[in-house]
Amino acid sequence: MRRVGKNAFTEVYFWGCNPSFVVTNDGVVMIDTPQQPIDAMRWRETMLEHGPIRYLISTEPHPDHISGNAYFPGVEVIAQEGLKTRYEEAIPQMLSEERTQRMKETDPDSVWLLNHPDYPPNPPTKTFDQELTLHVGNHTFEITHLPGHTKPQTAILVPEEGVVFTGDNIFFKCKTFIQEADPWEWLDALRTIEQVDVDIIVPGHGETCDKDYLSTQAQVIENWLGTVEDFVKRGLTEEEALKQELDVPSLDPYPIGQRLYTMSDRLNGLNVSNIYKHVQNRRA
Ligand SMILES: [Zn+2]
Repeated sequence: MRRVGKNAFTEVYFWGCNPSFVVTNDGVVMIDTPQQPIDAMRWRETMLEHGPIRYLISTEPHPDHISGNAYFPGVEVIAQEGLKTRYEEAIPQMLSEERTQRMKETDPDSVWLLNHPDYPPNPPTKTFDQELTLHVGNHTFEITHLPGHTKPQTAILVPEEGVVFTGDNIFFKCKTFIQEADPWEWLDALRTIEQVDVDIIVPGHGETCDKDYLSTQAQVIENWLGTVEDFVKRGLTEEEALKQELDVPSLDPYPIGQRLYTMSDRLNGLNVSNIYKHVQNRRA
């Protein structure tokens, strides 16, 4: 676990995203959850040493950020309105037999915690549209809708700690997932983060960083966007675009993070396919 502020912590080495928490003088506020049930349980024990858990803020609807919410029963979940629907849509997958079977192979220690009656799904109940300011103890949480990597993407600034938690609008030195993003919105989101008065950025994946990395992150998105724009300009269909040879290291030189390698090959196609649709829509 990494200390990122006087009272702020994150873990960058779990399988899944970087879950974080801030210790206030009136309990703990969490940001995202560990994906694997056994990690979520251990993470909860760590936090409870610092006080009761007051809130959980979810930054995005992907399973590596929200699957662990179930292991924080009774903790109110805060999220952008659009994330509530996405969470509800993800529940059948979270409870599926297929997930249990897969976990027997990949993480047997977590299996007994799946579909456990004490840990039912924990969807967001406190939602917001554009922003929400939360005061807990002596801390302020400026929660802002910052669509990019996903539509309901959310960033949390904690000014007292000098930290912003961006979720997956930043992948620090690990492969960028553009499988559903609007690339232009994402570039706007990075420009917004540039304006935030903060020293430390906790990304959704990879090590913590500072604003110097924003231009690198933007470049990766621009590289993918430029490549696919070129496919569209050449009149290629989506299917043809997907068959083009990609010079992946020049688009995004970083390895895929945190045991996500099973997605590595598929992700290039998902990025192309998604960006292709956005470029087409923009031209229409
Ligand atoms: Zn994501």
